[in-house]
Amino acid sequence: MTPWFDTTKVFIDGAWRAPASGDTLPLEDPSTGQEIGRIARGTGADIDAAVAAAERALTGDWGRLTAAERGRLLMHMGQLVQDHADALAEMEATDVGKPLTQARSDVTALARYCEFYGGAADKVMGETIPFNAGFTVYTLREPHGVTGHIVPWNYPMQIIGRSIGAALAMGNACVLKPAEEACLTALAIADIARQAGLPAGALNVVPGLGAEAGAALTAHKGIHHVSFTGSVPTGRLVQAAAAQNCVPVTLELGGKSPQVVFADADLDAALPFLVNAGIQNAGQTCSAASRILVERPIYDEVCTRMAAAYRALKVGPAMEDLNVGPLISARQKEIVEGFLAKAPKGSILAEGEVTNIASGGHYVRPTLIGGLTPDHVLAQQEIFGPVQVVLPFEGEDEATEIANGTDYGLVASVWTRDGARQMRMARRLRAGQVFINNYGAAGGVELPFGGTRLSGHGREKGFEALYAFSSLKTVAAHHG
Ligand code: NAD
Repeated sequence: MTPWFDTTKVFIDGAWRAPASGDTLPLEDPSTGQEIGRIARGTGADIDAAVAAAERALTGDWGRLTAAERGRLLMHMGQLVQDHADALAEMEATDVGKPLTQARSDVTALARYCEFYGGAADKVMGETIPFNAGFTVYTLREPHGVTGHIVPWNYPMQIIGRSIGAALAMGNACVLKPAEEACLTALAIADIARQAGLPAGALNVVPGLGAEAGAALTAHKGIHHVSFTGSVPTGRLVQAAAAQNCVPVTLELGGKSPQVVFADADLDAALPFLVNAGIQNAGQTCSAASRILVERPIYDEVCTRMAAAYRALKVGPAMEDLNVGPLISARQKEIVEGFLAKAPKGSILAEGEVTNIASGGHYVRPTLIGGLTPDHVLAQQEIFGPVQVVLPFEGEDEATEIANGTDYGLVASVWTRDGARQMRMARRLRAGQVFINNYGAAGGVELPFGGTRLSGHGREKGFEALYAFSSLKTVAAHHG
């Protein structure tokens, strides 16, 4: 896996350059624990340069484009993403440690974000508002200006796609700070933007440490909107920094999402969704379904069938393309193992099999846990590893109480053949997305996504994100 660009550079003002620090950070392959390259250590000085370039773009070639022209550029980027699909998938698999097939789906999602937001760019319209005699009043949707994007390491391509896709469609100029653990595809996207002919400064990418480049970006007075995906503690810091400049923030902070399975559910249909939504990307997914709530009459059967599925799971290097890859880092492995150490004796129902533990990668066994009370730490806190807990319930009221009984509210699902119950539960579950007889809808770039409470606020994806990345102006003309 050799990227076609120089990974030690930052991308500012439409060109690659060395970071101001002249320094680099290690690039690790989580499947082996080995250093496989270096990336730029961007700092405040690079962020200053990127924000200045973005500001110039807004009044320069980028700012002069029509919405349709912006859309065409995004769609061209989507085509180039597809042209580079193999390289992008291999890069993401190596950098994040995700099995190659899952990395390929992320490439497809990135191309789809470019296509969706490219197509939507010239379809965002204002309104005319009936008002007093002698007035014509209408609204305009305008870009915020320079938008800051801070993304994590778990789904770089997907999260960058949804974030800069919507921001660029609305005419903002972006400064992106990818995660230090996995930023290769962020750099690839910068180069794809260059190849597509995106005007200089419309997209700037500055890798670096969160406390350096990230903090400099969120506190920067030249940033007019901040979009952040990551942990709750960092989300708090980001919101506090943005508050100093009184700019809007979108926070996507993860969850403890439940799938609620009633006794009348089609279990054959449900089972793959119950397991996959917990172990996809080794459970390092903000919308992972880490709690499976099961109605008492079928609790034993679901535990038995999920346990059998867990015992068949194979864990190993990303490029071997098994069910589960390594965790992103030694630190993440330590966190997950710390949680697993809290599992009471006899509560582990089944584990998967690690096929390649000698390689030095950051592997943990996928683990299914039962017999906990809903208030147990493993049933309450986001583990961010391939760990699911199964909890029994009796009836809709208790299902709702347990499902809504954490500090989070990102995604939920309900499995039942009863149509009225589907509608009731969809209203009662506290989450930004509720799925009925499915989970995740394969990503769904068209579907607004985001959380409530500790899962964050604001919506990304779908048309909704175009509103979030724009500012509404009301024009009231008095003409008598
Ligand atoms: P993090 O929140 O520290 O990092 C996410 C991004 O924020 C990275 O780009 C990082 O460089 C940046 N960042 C860090 N400190 C910053 C600061 N002070 N100012 C601005 N930006 C900063 O997440 P992490 O340490 O990589 O992961 C820790 C935990 O976060 C995980 O165990 C998991 O629970 C959670 N997480 C959630 C998601 C999600 O999709 N919601 C993604 C990754 C991690």
